[in-house]
This record gives sequence, structure tokens and C-alpha cells, in this order.
Amino acid sequence: MTGADVFHEDAAFSYEDVVRAHERLAGVVSRTPVLTSTTANDRLGAQLYFKCENFQRMGAFKFRGAYNALVQFTPEQRRLGVVAFSSGNHAQGVALAARLLGVPAVIVMPADAPVIKLEATRGYGAEVMLYDRATEDREAIGQRLAHERGLTLVPPYDHLHVMAGQGTAAIELFEEVGPLDALLVPLGGGGLLSGCATVAKTLHPGCRVIGVEPEAGNDGQQSLRRGQIVHIGLPATIADGAQTQHLGRHTFPVIQDRVDDIVTVSDQELVEAMAFFAGRMKMLVEPTGCLGAAAAFGDRLGLRGQRVGVMVSGGNVDLSRFGHLLQGGFQEGHR
Ligand SMILES: *Cc1c(COP(=O)(O)O)cnc(C)c1O
Repeated sequence: MTGADVFHEDAAFSYEDVVRAHERLAGVVSRTPVLTSTTANDRLGAQLYFKCENFQRMGAFKFRGAYNALVQFTPEQRRLGVVAFSSGNHAQGVALAARLLGVPAVIVMPADAPVIKLEATRGYGAEVMLYDRATEDREAIGQRLAHERGLTLVPPYDHLHVMAGQGTAAIELFEEVGPLDALLVPLGGGGLLSGCATVAKTLHPGCRVIGVEPEAGNDGQQSLRRGQIVHIGLPATIADGAQTQHLGRHTFPVIQDRVDDIVTVSDQELVEAMAFFAGRMKMLVEPTGCLGAAAAFGDRLGLRGQRVGVMVSGGNVDLSRFGHLLQGGFQEGHR
């Protein structure tokens, strides 16, 4: 895709869109806690505010965007149902939102997805359709299902309603802590970052907004630098929620317009942040959820003396995988 394919009018995606999502989500999403750590603050000479979406319903912020998309379906769309393809948090977000709204849901997942994730998705009442990662294309399957059964496809990030829903996490954060000098946001396809950046730059234009990617998957950083969407191969990283290969045509222009910088962290730094959250703050955060915190802990962003918001985006990690990662198992591969 070249720069010319990007819809620049999406930069019109506005704070008002997020505020309306915030109103729709009232009483449905959990207002997640903002936690602090004296240890982290002392170490960095900064004041960090962790917005803990690992405590969100289904364990990640993805529920926000999914619900905001589904709740705006027409009666006909609600009757026919929704389809999503994902092996991760988006699947569970859509499945839960669909159950709450009484919308039939089909989730396309790889046959080799962890049983616990298949079970969780079925547990929310969704129909799980398995495909073979090696020979089949999930996007094509999703599109075929949408066509044959009249289902509405809800993409994981590249959708204005999804972006608006994800941004509501930042509205809550600013309501709680007031102005910030910087906001660090995990970055995959950019739904969370585009929503949060829009909120930050509207409420506090001086707040530096920084997206954080895994080192191996820095397509967003490359895209921002080149001024066009850069596609990369499947990145080998333990941050499975950020293994996206390109930003979206809706998310990119918003990121270009409102994000100050995109930085990267190593898998080693992610594991150290996971260990910090578990050891010091007594909470379980998945590798992708640690991206923002790892960037802060890396102490390369000039945060000294600043008030810094850190999006902690999710907590869905098997305990066995968690233990394996903390023991250095991540060096063997990205799963
Ligand atoms: C999906 C996800 C991300 C990345 O979000 P995007 O909107 O795709 O940028 C980050 N963290 C977690 C836990 C996720 O599930």
C-alpha cells in the first residue's frame, strides 16, 4: 500500500467520537484502576500512572472497541450476527460484547490456537470456526462467512468505532490523574494508540504521545518515519498482541497526525517488566501489555521529573507460559 491509498480524511476522527463511545460504554466496561509504584517512581525520578486494562472485562482493553462497534449495529446486523478473526484478545472482546448484546458471533481461529483461548471464546457463547494456519487465509474465510451468512465483520483495529472505543481508556485515565507530560501506549495495529492520542492531544496538547512496539515488529516506527504504511513479515516476538504486520488505513493517518514518536523495546525488557508487575505490584500482565511500561523502565525517553501515563493493555497469559517466559524461555522462540 502506498501513501496515496490512505484516507487522509480519517484524521477527522475526533475526540467527540471517543466521548460518544465513552457514553455508550458507561456501566458496561469496568472502570479499571490507575495504580502507582513508589519503587518505579524512585528508580526513574518520574511519576508513573499505570492504567490497568489487564483488569478490564475479558482481561484487555479490546472489549471497549468491540462493544462500541457492536452496539451501533442496525437491528438487521444484530439479528444476522458478527464475525471476527483473531486468536487473541479481539476474539474474546467481540464474543463477550456479542453475548451481552444478544448478537450471534462467529470467531475464526487457528486450529492450533491454545485450547484455553478456544474454550474461553466458546465460553462466551461464540461459534468458533477453526482454520489451518498453514494452508488457509483467515481473512478470506472471514470475508466468505460475512458474504454467505450476512455477518458483519468487525476488524481488530482498523475501524473508526473500534478506535473510538479503545480511546475511552485514555478518557478515564485523564479524568483520574489530570494533565500528563507523556503517555506511553502499546502498539499493534494502532486502534488503542489512535484513540488514546486523539484524547490526549485534545485535552492536553502538550502531552507527548508515544507508541511502543516490540523491536522485531517496528513497522509502525518505520511507517511514521517514511510517511507511508510499511508492511513487514510476521515478527518474532513474545508480544503476540503486537504481531501485526502493518498499521491500518484508518489508524495510520490519525497516528501520523497525533503521535509524537514510536519507540521499541526488546523481548528481554518485556520479560523484566512482567517480572516487575508480578513481583512489585502483584499483578499479571501479558507480554504485549508490558510494552508501555518497558519503554518507561528503559529510561531512554527523558521522563525524569515528568508525570507519565502508561497504558497496561492486557493480562491474558497462561500461567505456564508466564512461568516459562520468566525463566528465560522466550529466547527459544516467540511462543
Ligand atoms: C490488541 C492488543 C494490543 C495492540 O492494540 P492495537 O489496537 O492493535 O494497536 C496491545 N495490547 C494488548 C494486550 C492487545 O490485546
